Amino acid sequence: MEQIIETHGAEETFALGKKIGKSARPGQVYALNGDLGAGKTVFTQGVAAGLGITEPVNSPTFTILQIYENGRLPFYHFDVYRIGDVEEMEEIGYEDCFYGEGVCLVEWAGLIEEILPENCIRIEIAKNLSSGFDYRTIKIEQNRTEVGI
Ligand code: ADP
Ligand code: MG
Repeated sequence: MEQIIETHGAEETFALGKKIGKSARPGQVYALNGDLGAGKTVFTQGVAAGLGITEPVNSPTFTILQIYENGRLPFYHFDVYRIGDVEEMEEIGYEDCFYGEGVCLVEWAGLIEEILPENCIRIEIAKNLSSGFDYRTIKIEQNRTEVGI
């Protein structure tokens, strides 16, 4: 299943993420891709809000993984922009997160393609400057089960 949603500002992308976070189920892995500044972290902040997380969520600069435990489900936020090798994912124990009872979201998921679960939800955020500076298309793809938006 594939859906394409258009947003016209950060608050709309946040709202979409929030809707998805509200319906997220244990064990779901969201694989995000998109250029620098596309809105991956804005979307992530929405997902966190939808999970009921009240702590501020930012892209971890020097850590690959940030864990938030005060929401409806544990939230594992990966930003693998600076990863050198998927072995680094093994070192931080990603399997317990990907195949656990929490919700995972990976920014720059394309860099760890080989270890993404087959049933992950793929989200691609793209700019299209001819449609305006704040315009984005957000493509959501999933193999099985509905995304819930
Ligand atoms: P990324 O994590 O993909 O590098 P960020 O989420 O950190 O990107 O930054 C996205 C930037 O783009 C923010 O400054 C945000 O305010 C801005 N922005 C403008 N329009 C949108 C939109 N439609 N969706 C998301 N962010 C937007
Ligand atoms: Mg980011």
